[in-house]
Amino acid sequence: MAMAHRAMTTGDLPAYHSTASAPSLRSREPVEMLERPFTPPDGGDGGNVKVVVRVRKFIRRELEKQSPCLIEMKPHSNETVIHPPPLAPDEAKNSRSKQYEQRSFTFDKSFWSHDEADAHYAQQHDVYASFGEEFLDHNFDGYHTCIFAYGQTGSGKSYTMMGTPDQPGLIPRTCRGLFERVEAEQNSSITYNVHVSFFEIYNEHVKDLLTPRTNPPTYLKIREHKSDGVYVQGLTDEPVKCYEDIERLMKTGDMNRTTASTKMNDTSSRSHAVFTLTLKQIQHDIATDSTIERLARMRLVDLAGSERANRTEATGQRLREGGNINQSLTTLGRVIAALADPRRQRASRLTAPQNQSKRRAEVVPYRDSVLTWLLKDSLGGNSKTAMVACISPTDYDETLSTLRYADQAKRIRTKAHINQ
Ligand code: ADP
Repeated sequence: MAMAHRAMTTGDLPAYHSTASAPSLRSREPVEMLERPFTPPDGGDGGNVKVVVRVRKFIRRELEKQSPCLIEMKPHSNETVIHPPPLAPDEAKNSRSKQYEQRSFTFDKSFWSHDEADAHYAQQHDVYASFGEEFLDHNFDGYHTCIFAYGQTGSGKSYTMMGTPDQPGLIPRTCRGLFERVEAEQNSSITYNVHVSFFEIYNEHVKDLLTPRTNPPTYLKIREHKSDGVYVQGLTDEPVKCYEDIERLMKTGDMNRTTASTKMNDTSSRSHAVFTLTLKQIQHDIATDSTIERLARMRLVDLAGSERANRTEATGQRLREGGNINQSLTTLGRVIAALADPRRQRASRLTAPQNQSKRRAEVVPYRDSVLTWLLKDSLGGNSKTAMVACISPTDYDETLSTLRYADQAKRIRTKAHINQ
């Protein structure tokens, strides 16, 4: 994907509060700004949305069954190919057997985390280096960001987002990176405040993961403020001073999520977990004795298992859960697709009365699910969004469904695609 290099103007900057007029917001050299590949949405090539795919290695169950690897990745073209599973002899003879086909997709990046012996094996730090660092730069420039992990249960979403103590994922790496920069850049003219919140959306209800579980569960209300936008009333928003403070909160949140899961039969795969870092930069201008505040949010989201949305045989509570997950994942896919679609930007600029219906059709459907409604400030505008589609190397149906979802979220036209 070609990323345009463009000078930033003050028109690109997010809203900020100032006690003085027309101050300069920059804490770093302007030259650095100009070199950063950054395409605002009105640049029109979907440059603010990245869709990447990551295949995990075999887990024990797959090794024991000697399941074949159905995924092939071509690292230079970022192409991901899914091959049909080998048919059992009786299936092969039966003409009415289910038909499988080979399919090929191209994303912004394909992470091969399947075979550690392979030269292209993508480790946790490769995933972070590929876009996590860039997203953090974006936050320090005052923009919101959002990273989602999508995929069936067991496809590597939590591994990618949270990781393990030995192999930390995107969330701990982003937190570490944030404090490294805060420590390096903080001085007498600029100070940083960092806050953390961690909540779960289960069945379209919001639960705070930083407060002890209650029985029955306490659901928080969603409110909308005229100028501050959508927020969760009463959500813990903990101030943190160092990485260790965040580590403690990550553990609390994870424990609250897991405890509830065990009691309620694995709700963790049926809920979306949203970890939010809020970075406030306070710049003091000694000469004019003025202060400027700039706020950026980083949302890091471990989505509910996508297979839950596909299950049609469920009844009662499970059916309702499946319906809610389906609705929120479908809406999220539509929101990301709308943000990545250059036509939306063009349509939103149409003002003539005859274009009103076209404009309405292009409206981003944030309000269709609690997830997208709450994340509205971090999706769209000048925010950056990334989706990591996590896939298993063996499960044809679920993996194809994830690849299709990622493809619909952002169709990347490469030469290879057009020639097909
Ligand atoms: P999910 O969150 O999608 O349900 P997990 O992240 O829990 O899935 O992953 C399922 C299992 O696979 C876990 O044991 C995890 O440690 C392992 N795993 C996932 N991705 C990788 C990877 N890239 N490398 C090594 N192990 C992985």
